[in-house]
This record gives sequence, C-alpha cells and structure tokens, in this order.
Amino acid sequence: MTDPGAKSFYITTAIDYPNGAPHIGHSMEKVAADVMARFHRLLGDDVAFTMGLDENSQHIVTAAKTAGIETGPFTDEMDRVFRASWDALQISRSSWVRTTEPRHTVASQELFSRALANGDIYKSTYAGWYCPNCNNYYTEDELVDGRCPNHPSITPEWLEEENYFFALSKYSDFLRDHIAANPEFITPSTWTAEVMGLIESGLRDFSVSRRVKPDTEPWGVPVPGDPEHVLYVWFDALTTYLTGIGFPEDGGTSGRYWPADSQVIGKDILRFHTLYWPAMLASAGLPLPRRIAIHGFMTLEGRRISKTTGNVISPIEVVDEFGADPVRYYLMRDLSFSSDGDFSRSKLIRRYNDDLGNDLGNLLNRVVAMIGRYRGGVVPAASDGEAIEAELREIAANAHERAAHHIDQWQLNEALEEIWQLVRRANQYLEARKPWTLAKNEADAGLLDTTLYTAAEATRLAGLYLAPFIPGSADKIMAQLGLDPIADGDWTSKGTWGSADFGTVDPAGPLFPRIEVTE
Ligand SMILES: [Zn+2]
Repeated sequence: MTDPGAKSFYITTAIDYPNGAPHIGHSMEKVAADVMARFHRLLGDDVAFTMGLDENSQHIVTAAKTAGIETGPFTDEMDRVFRASWDALQISRSSWVRTTEPRHTVASQELFSRALANGDIYKSTYAGWYCPNCNNYYTEDELVDGRCPNHPSITPEWLEEENYFFALSKYSDFLRDHIAANPEFITPSTWTAEVMGLIESGLRDFSVSRRVKPDTEPWGVPVPGDPEHVLYVWFDALTTYLTGIGFPEDGGTSGRYWPADSQVIGKDILRFHTLYWPAMLASAGLPLPRRIAIHGFMTLEGRRISKTTGNVISPIEVVDEFGADPVRYYLMRDLSFSSDGDFSRSKLIRRYNDDLGNDLGNLLNRVVAMIGRYRGGVVPAASDGEAIEAELREIAANAHERAAHHIDQWQLNEALEEIWQLVRRANQYLEARKPWTLAKNEADAGLLDTTLYTAAEATRLAGLYLAPFIPGSADKIMAQLGLDPIADGDWTSKGTWGSADFGTVDPAGPLFPRIEVTE
C-alpha cells in the first residue's frame, strides 16, 4: 500500500472516440503515460491515472447506425474492445471514465454551472464548418481544399444554431501570462510558439452546447436548466479528467490529485488542452494542470494510418505476436515526443533481436548461467574490485540519475538510451573480465566472485530502471536473479549499487527468444 503521506501524482491520457476499434496509432500515448505512471509509483508516489472514452458525440450515434446496432450496445462493445487493448499493453490505469456515465454528467454539469455563475457562459448563434471527428467548427480558411485540416477524408458540413458559448476571449491575457510564467506547462517547449501564436491571432469564444434536434436520438449531457441543449463535446470531454478523480462530490480525493501533474495528448488537440481547458478551469475556480505533454503523429509503414484505406493494425494483434513488453519497448525507443514517428514491423523485430535479445537477454542469461555453473547458484560476495568495477558502478549511478531526469522531461527514448549504456557496458565488462577463464584458476576465485557479483548487480539495476518500460520482463529478470518482484518505491530504496541482498539465482531460459526473419 502507498504511504498515506506520499506525494500524489496525477496523469491522464486523451480519451478516444469509440467510433471504431483502437489501432496502433492510439498506443504510443497510452504506453508513454503508463511509463510515467509506473515511474512515479517506483518513486513511491501515490499515483492516479485516468483514461476513458468520449462517447457523447453525434458521430458515435452515426457509427452505431452504420453498424446496424443501437447506440448503447454499440458503445458497450467498443468499451470492451478499448479496455482489452489497453490491458494487452499492460496499461496500469487506476480510473476509466465513459462520458455516458452518470457520475460524468454530474461533473460536467457542475463545471458548466460554475462557469455560468462566473459570468463566462452566454447564448448566441453559431455558424461554421463542423467536423464530426474533431467535434470542432472551422472557418472557411481553416479548411484544406474544403476538407477538415486533421481529417483529409472528411468534408465538414455548414451548421448554424443557437448555442451556449464560453467566453474564451476574456482569458487571452491570463493564458499568455500563465504560459510565459510556466515554461514546463507545454512540453516539449517546441509547441509553445504555436500556442502563443493562437493567442496572438485572437481567441474566439467557443460553443459549449448543441441543440437537440427534434428528429435525433438525444445523446449527451443535458445543459443544467435547459434540456433542449446538450453540452458540446469538448466541454464535456475535457471534464473527464476531473470525473476520473471523483469531482465534485468527493472533494477529498479530487482535492488530493488535482491539479494533474501531466496530461498527455496528441498535437491535433493541442488548442483544446492548452487554451480551452485552462480557461474553463480558471473560470470554475480550479487550478491548472502542471503540464500538457504533447506528442506527434504516427504513420504505419510510412503511410498515414487510415481505416478507410485499411492501413491499420490493432494493438492486440501486435501484442499477440510479439508480447506486450517488446511492443512497449519499441514504441518508447524509436518514437519520440518531439517529432512524428513511424511504426514499422521490421524495425520492431530489429529492436527485439538486437536490444532485447542480444543485449539485455544475453546479459541476464550469461550472469545466471555462470553463477549457476561456478558458484552453485549463489550470488557471491564481492570486493570493491579495481578501476573497471568502479567504472561500471559509475555508469549505473549515471543511468539512475539521468534516466529519471529524462523521464521527468518526457524524453523517454533518451531515458532508454541512458539505461542501455549500462546494459552494453555490463556485457563489455564480462568480455573484459572473462569469468570463464578466471574459473580455471583457483588463485582467481576472489576476482571471479567480484566479477559475478558486479555483473549480477549491474543486471539487477538495469532491470529495475527498465521496469516502467517493460514491467513484466523486469520482474522476470528479478526472478531469475533470485530477487523479489519490483515494488512501489524501489527506484529510491533499491536503485543504487549494493542496495539489494541477493540469494540464489533461478535460470529460466532466454527472456526474448530470437525471432527469425525470413526474407
Ligand atoms: Zn476533423
């Protein structure tokens, strides 16, 4: 159990539209958020982690109709498929919100009422080009050849109706000042200029409701006191982050976790999270999230991921073939928050064979096999050794410190690179010390002990540092080394050299059996 005095850490991912099953393009964000959540548990923090589904869109009603199913059963089935996908990827969420849940109605109506009481909500007529996938209106010049700027396959339709509006324009100075005073609010900071540019070009008030059309199924959260309107999807979708921690009834819990420490999103919804959301929170008298972490888009084998062209893979399919940890490792190692990325099967296999199989898997294999062969399985005690041992200890200390720094900055691929320095150097250490030669000479018994211990300890630490990324494999590394599974707080209490007591190793074969590639 988490220490009641522990620091809280709250993280969220964007919620997805369940108008179709999730694909691999949705996965990087969820895995990255999970790495962050697991890292903070390893630091001993009390972590809350909210994910969910954005079900209150007219677009979902349309998708259900197309599938020939009632909207309710359609979203129930999508809910099952999305949760199964995130379970397959070992995403350790603590809270799952469907925006059709009653508790979410309560939370979003409360936020609306607070903004209304604060004088930030008014009624007016709205007109614009509406993209149902974005749930956003665009002006004529924002469209690209008449199509949605984010969805080239969608031709937005012209809509005009009476709506409630949120007075975003009142918040321009507030948002500019907040972003300038909090450089980490937008991560990576390469996005700051774009957000500032949006403010400079003039913030327009945005529509927060939709009129229920007489011939359509009512779908969405009713506007408090005006059931002819439902909340416009962004206002209600963003509130999910508060619903997930019990807002507003459970003041204790939401007070403990809010403001969120990190909210992870894709670059296409940057304006809603860096402008709309902070203004809504300020209007409701709530503090702003500490950080919005923004990632780029992912292509699949060099092409845009698209259901229409069939260029999609389901996360479950990839996990079934390679296992959760190799997929997680590949996503975090080859893709970065600071640029767009490409998911490629051949690159995944290369990372699996080279990094996980040859570097990490072989290191573990050699260590436990030699301790078995030369010392009856018992990890020996060691002396401090010489310069080469001191150097490996220093590399481990660097990996511990620098990986933590990079994870904190959402540079997850760089964190893995730091940890891999340790893995590679531990292999080189064995090559240099040649324990198989030391074992032939009784006079070298002390040095053999030191070598085996040093290599085992380097392997243990690498496994611990990798635990946020490849949690299942990290526990298998501990099991083969004869150690307990990794527990909350271990990054701190067992993260430094010599901080764990070894027993007897338990070899269990290769962690990552080689994948043969047929040309
Ligand atoms: Zn769109």
